[in-house]
Amino acid sequence: MIHLENIHKTYYAGSPLHVLKGIDLDVADGDFVSIMGASGSGKSTLLNIVGILDDYDEGKYYLNGRLIKDLTETQSAKIRNEMIGFVFQSFNLLNFKTALENVALPLYYRGISRKKRNAIALEYLDRLGLKDWADHLPNEMSGGQKQRVAIARSIISKPRLILADEPTGALDSTTSQEVMDILRQVNREEGITMLIVTHAREVAEQTNKIVNFKDGLISSIEDIKQL
Ligand code: ADP
Ligand code: MG
Repeated sequence: MIHLENIHKTYYAGSPLHVLKGIDLDVADGDFVSIMGASGSGKSTLLNIVGILDDYDEGKYYLNGRLIKDLTETQSAKIRNEMIGFVFQSFNLLNFKTALENVALPLYYRGISRKKRNAIALEYLDRLGLKDWADHLPNEMSGGQKQRVAIARSIISKPRLILADEPTGALDSTTSQEVMDILRQVNREEGITMLIVTHAREVAEQTNKIVNFKDGLISSIEDIKQL
């Protein structure tokens, strides 16, 4: 699904910062992979490139066999909308919209009628154990509940790939565990490929493969046996 070959990225804000120094990585369809590394090692930079939110300077990135390079914003947006779901540390929910409206939002952008999208969104909330919270606003919910809403929103458009940047970064360890269990369940039940950035070893250990990042390079890849 993801094929990265010798990816380089330098930021030019003040003095040049060579953040990615030749990344080679393959992620297979249906896999559940984490990227772990210290703060500032380039994890988010790589995730943004994979999510076509940012460009790279050198190398090759293929997504589902298609070379992702020099796309227009319209082309990138189309691929993102059709294929990729995003989950963030800070949830990125709209605070003035209910849980149901937040989850239904991607369907609004697809031109699906309100009645239909609300019915589908309620199904997804139900699957994530949040049916009774449909009419609540984000600030009435706990961190774990908000992240479940964000996950429901990310899967409602049936992406092939979910990119999660520190999805448990703002949560306590029990709630982190719940969120990881849900991501695992979504990976198994929907076959959605998961790429998760984390700096927590206990989070990474719940994925199938840990890609260890150090100073803009992959230092090792560990296979994890899951029961
Ligand atoms: P991580 O996610 O592993 O903490 P990042 O990929 O966010 O690391 O950042 C890697 C380095 O690049 C950091 O030193 C960060 O300050 C820098 N950086 C990130 N984004 C930008 C940007 N848009 N412009 C300039 N420097 C950036
Ligand atoms: Mg980061």
